[in-house]
Amino acid sequence: MRTLHRIAVYCASSNDVPERYFQAARDFGILLAGQGIGIVYGGGRVGLMGALADAAVSAGGEVIGVIPRKLMDLEVGHTGVTRLEVVETMAIRKGRMAELADAFVALPGGIGTLEEISEATSLAQLNYQDKPVGLYNCHGFWDALVSWLDHAAQEGFIRPIHRDLVAIDSDASQLIERLRAAVIPRVEDWAPRPPEVPQKA
Ligand code: AMP
Repeated sequence: MRTLHRIAVYCASSNDVPERYFQAARDFGILLAGQGIGIVYGGGRVGLMGALADAAVSAGGEVIGVIPRKLMDLEVGHTGVTRLEVVETMAIRKGRMAELADAFVALPGGIGTLEEISEATSLAQLNYQDKPVGLYNCHGFWDALVSWLDHAAQEGFIRPIHRDLVAIDSDASQLIERLRAAVIPRVEDWAPRPPEVPQKA
């Protein structure tokens, strides 16, 4: 079982989403704080990011934001978190978040969230990082992505060994347990070998 000191949580910057998603983000923040798991996140005070951070801080949890200077200058940085790190680029931000965290979880979000969790998954698949990835499928938000994963696996675009690379759960506590138990397949166990060059007779 893995020890999860901190989880990188990716989630929406939008404020224009139904209240049930804000509540799910708050509940997730409170759950992590209650389990003594710190949160690493995008550092914003908008959307589900702000809801998650505020709830976790109020519940006594550690919350570290990592935000690019440009977004900070747009005054969306959250100044009420445990620590806010301001970095120069989006790429540096992503690397720093990965460095600080032991696992990655996506709450409902848009393009930014999808991009972040996709990259973490792709890097895990290739063993560039060894930290598990999960989707918190609250209110069925990620159902369409789960259907795509099934379709891609059925059509052979995702190897069977990688079908469960992403832990998916609508129950946040269960999701954390799955991340603790996660095993990331080793590249050596599945990487395709180049076809053998036919030998001359
Ligand atoms: P999106 O899902 O498109 O709303 O993007 C949210 C993700 O992108 C978050 O996990 C953040 O890491 C990043 N992000 C997008 N907008 C902001 C913002 N205003 N402040 C901080 N991070 C942001």
